[in-house]
Amino acid sequence: IKGTGKNSWQIFEENVEKRTFNDYELEQDLYFAVENNELDVYLQPIMKKDSPQTSYAEALVRWKHPVHGLIPPSAFIPIAEQSGFIHQIDEFVFKRTCEIIQRWKMDYQIDLTVSNNVSPKRFLRHSFITNVKNTLNHFQVDARNIIFEITETTLIHDPEIVHKTINDFRKLGIRFALDDFGTGYSSISHVSMFNIDFLKIDRQFIQDIHLNKRNQAILKGITNFTSELNIPMIAEGIETAEELEFLQKLNCAYFQGYYFSKPCDLETFKEFMLG
Ligand code: C2E
Ligand code: CA
Ligand code: CA
Ligand code: CA
Repeated sequence: IKGTGKNSWQIFEENVEKRTFNDYELEQDLYFAVENNELDVYLQPIMKKDSPQTSYAEALVRWKHPVHGLIPPSAFIPIAEQSGFIHQIDEFVFKRTCEIIQRWKMDYQIDLTVSNNVSPKRFLRHSFITNVKNTLNHFQVDARNIIFEITETTLIHDPEIVHKTINDFRKLGIRFALDDFGTGYSSISHVSMFNIDFLKIDRQFIQDIHLNKRNQAILKGITNFTSELNIPMIAEGIETAEELEFLQKLNCAYFQGYYFSKPCDLETFKEFMLG
């Protein structure tokens, strides 16, 4: 990726290395982060096989801390989940997402589809679906333009309720991706039991896939049942042409990773999309 995207990432990584954060302090600051407008939504394009262009991206939250600079989600999402702020954060990201989709439709006549990460806590909250409906209505966004990324932690929590919730959302038109597949509790039965539209293969299997026979075997196994079930696979964390080339032969439908673009601010994303 060009220009600003790369620079801002370098600052980001330096911060991660240099600073150690006090969780308690972060929790206090997080309380004000939404109100003080310190959160931002970055977008990372997701490419479709054999297509040079895309209208699909994943939304990833960023926190510009007034003192510590950019703090990566891995440092504050767990704290947010513990303290309950995750609702505010995910809601903020969803609103911004809808706002962006509406904007792009009006300004560029581009029909963006955007994935949002949904934390297990938020998913299980009763008000979640009403909340989502209200925001979709407010921004006049079609539910087909939204994909919720959930992990297997969500699925195993309360399978019956989760099953029903997924189906209620799917009736609205929202689709689901099972994120980080291959890590944690992964099981094939989850994928067939719940109505999942996409499967995201975790980066740990993608890294050096062209060299790693063991991961190749695992991925071939996953491909066998996903093609049987007609569920497209998204490979995440692709960094090299070699990885991409191998995955293209494996019947992967979508590709995401630094090889194409890092997650970037709206301005940089616009440049990537519109040239
Ligand atoms: P995730 O959902 O698995 O997101 C993918 C992560 O991989 C992102 O990290 C992304 O920047 C990174 N990534 C993408 N391509 C590459 C690549 O080619 N190489 C490498 N090394 N990394 C790549 P990020 O943005 O730091 O987010 C980390 C995690 O934080 C996410 O993992 C997700 O679990 C969580 N998260 C991020 N935004 C949100 C949000 O709005 N809500 C919730 N609940 N969680 C979020
Ligand atoms: Ca994700
Ligand atoms: Ca993931
Ligand atoms: Ca992950």
